[in-house]
Amino acid sequence: MKAKILVSACLMGFKVRYNGRDKPWVAAALERWRQEQRLVIHCPELAAGMDTPRLPAELAGGDGSAALTGAACILESDGSDVTQPYLLAAWLALKAAQENGCQFALLTDGSPTCGSQKIYDGHFRGVTIPGVGVAAALLRQHGIEVFAEHQLPGLISRIEEFEQEER
Ligand code: SF4
Repeated sequence: MKAKILVSACLMGFKVRYNGRDKPWVAAALERWRQEQRLVIHCPELAAGMDTPRLPAELAGGDGSAALTGAACILESDGSDVTQPYLLAAWLALKAAQENGCQFALLTDGSPTCGSQKIYDGHFRGVTIPGVGVAAALLRQHGIEVFAEHQLPGLISRIEEFEQEER
């Protein structure tokens, strides 16, 4: 079976981040996977109807796993509670992954949505802490293996292993 990968749109050069920029991750593997039609390029926040640019948002009181249970929230830098649209973003990421048969995800780290290794600490001071964003948490809960962009070599190995197992 051919592995399919949900990829954060901002990693692929789409200017969808809160600040109206992309976060391109130029890598030969991504280009090859794109040509092999393995990539599902998706921005959960844009899918949930958020504007670009938008205010930066950070998880408060816990990470994305906690936000999914109602134990943490997501606040914009002006103090607005935007937990509900971010939860919608997470569910839309899961829907995109499941509808397209993705077993893996490569997501932008640090985001309250896509982060999978680290998030910001909720005080808008540029400090990161270990944790996951809401979409990464939900994808993992549904068996999708999530990698951050700096873990691309690990994802390449994992996909080779997955496709050998599937033969
Ligand atoms: Fe990038 Fe994910 Fe934020 Fe969209 S939600 S801009 S894909 S990090």
